[in-house]
Amino acid sequence: MRVTSQKALSVLSNAFVFKKPHHVQWLMTRKCNYRCKGCNVWLDQQENELSAKEIIRGLDILRSLGVIEIVLSGGNPLLREDIDEILDYTSRFFITTVYDNGSTAYKKVDILRNADFVAISLDSLDPKVHDYIKGVKGAWRQAMKSIETLHTNGVNVAVSPTISQLNIHEIPKITAYFTERGIPVWYCLYSYDSRDIEHSLFSIGRKKDEFQIKDKTDLVKLCDTLLEMRKHRKGILITTRTLKALREYFSSGKRSWKCAALRNFFVIDHRGKVSGCHLFDPICSIFELPQKWNSEKFKELRKTYAKCASCTYLCYIFYSLHGSITENLELTKDQLGNANWLLIQRKLSQKLYNSKS
Ligand code: SF4
Ligand code: SF4
Repeated sequence: MRVTSQKALSVLSNAFVFKKPHHVQWLMTRKCNYRCKGCNVWLDQQENELSAKEIIRGLDILRSLGVIEIVLSGGNPLLREDIDEILDYTSRFFITTVYDNGSTAYKKVDILRNADFVAISLDSLDPKVHDYIKGVKGAWRQAMKSIETLHTNGVNVAVSPTISQLNIHEIPKITAYFTERGIPVWYCLYSYDSRDIEHSLFSIGRKKDEFQIKDKTDLVKLCDTLLEMRKHRKGILITTRTLKALREYFSSGKRSWKCAALRNFFVIDHRGKVSGCHLFDPICSIFELPQKWNSEKFKELRKTYAKCASCTYLCYIFYSLHGSITENLELTKDQLGNANWLLIQRKLSQKLYNSKS
């Protein structure tokens, strides 16, 4: 975690200002060393990614727009040779989360100290199940090694399972296992991208596959279990508001949120193309964004996205639910307990690290 005066100032001056795009997910590369079933990124490699210099120019634009939080993902962003330079710059100005499939983080401890969170994807406590999902033998061992190495070296690591039919009944156990060890948990939700878009940034899932959750009541029960666990357990990073909205959606079909793509959040791909979310066509390049942000075209797109109900991606729902001043205040209150808990966990792992070195 890195605390700089520029970062603190940016968070304080932008977090409670409405109509600013607070969250950005930057898919910096399509390079990936895993073969996850249901993901097409590794099948479609492209060489035309932005250079570190161009990314830094893009980050300056994001600062000027009022972005406060950036998630670096891909592909696997840690496979970029220039990730050190990119992460160093990003973490100076933004709350920064980096994703890793678990294969690389343990080799990059020093640079990852700058990240506010390193999210390691881990889908099961059973090595066979995890390796099967990732399509690589030994993936579970690598992920556990990354989690342990980062944690014992005082780096803020979080575990991020993708909830699917293959692990839905294991999610409470995974949550308990890691939070008991001082490691927070955030979730992704496997869902088939129902929009049929030829040029979407990436697509996930097939119409009917083994990952699709067959019975929605299982998801309702999981939301109930996590809501209950949240009452007496720290480290579950998904908010109560998000869990309640999901529960309502899976039990009655009612979406209590309007999608805030291109309002609260947007995504950028490896070429620097900007989309409201990864299911829609790119609409401009990051370098055109300052001219486009308040354009009529963007205003119309926001209206289209606000009516869209095509996905149940947890991050997008979370960002849609937490955007206004009151929602951000509620988010701050919701996460205060976790923040204190995280500080204690960090001090403990720092102490352990200092005693070893
Ligand atoms: S889901 Fe992530 S880790 Fe898995 S193949 Fe796709 S990009 Fe790689
Ligand atoms: S609901 Fe929002 S995030 Fe999901 S596909 Fe539609 S516009 Fe994209």
